[in-house]
Amino acid sequence: MSDYRKKFIVKPDSKIRLKHFDSGYHGKHESHKSALLEIQKNLQKMDQLQYRMYAESKHSLLIVLQGLDAAGKDGVVRHVLTGLNPSGCISTNFKEPTKEDLAHDFLWRVHPHVPAKGSIAIFNRSHYEDVLVVRVHELAPEKVWSKRYDQINDFERLITTENNTAILKFFLHISKEEQLARFKKRLDEPDRQWKISDSDYKKRAYKWFRDLAISQIIVRQMEEMNMQLPKPTVNLAEIRREYHQAEDGRKAGRK
Ligand code: AMP
Ligand code: MG
Repeated sequence: MSDYRKKFIVKPDSKIRLKHFDSGYHGKHESHKSALLEIQKNLQKMDQLQYRMYAESKHSLLIVLQGLDAAGKDGVVRHVLTGLNPSGCISTNFKEPTKEDLAHDFLWRVHPHVPAKGSIAIFNRSHYEDVLVVRVHELAPEKVWSKRYDQINDFERLITTENNTAILKFFLHISKEEQLARFKKRLDEPDRQWKISDSDYKKRAYKWFRDLAISQIIVRQMEEMNMQLPKPTVNLAEIRREYHQAEDGRKAGRK
């Protein structure tokens, strides 16, 4: 089985060019149908691992989703992360900052949403917008945004070391042509807009590959955490005895 984490990881401090990545890559499977079993297995494993994570309450996982409009960020939340137990998993959408957000440092609105020990947090867009859209639309001067790279690294180091948080950052790469095609669809079929991004598995889109690769990467990451269910804090033998006594008493009463 291919290890998508190895294939897609961008090593710290290395430079990449997106044009060198084939956005139509889809690994060994040719169709959603053939990938489905593997995706479902990953989702099952993810569910079991999250149960462990929640019970153990030592580790946490932050999943950051970035990508152009229509890249499929919402799709990842819907298809890959919905299997998770909502009580241990929170998803946050980062939209344009409010007036109150803007009156603070750029990480102020982000920090409350990082995962607590034992839980998973998903960022649909993130603090990376503060060095992306902010630069593209010139929302802050260079002397402000240029400092943010170090500030982001410090922030991520803080939650990694202080709170045992693993961070998985996904950039969902679609080609310009693919993005235009997806926009066109939205324009052409306004009445069906609500389902477009969900149900279409066009040849060039390979949304199922996105689901496959992301679910596998999350599973591998969580497996490495080597999480253990906590030892019972009560005397099980005693409780078992009490239970059987009560059960015997009930049976005797029925006779
Ligand atoms: P969507 O993800 O489609 O709901 O759109 C959210 C919008 O909020 C996008 O246009 C983002 O670029 C914008 N946005 C998110 N975070 C920031 C930020 N920190 N500064 C400015 N715009 C942002
Ligand atoms: Mg969107």
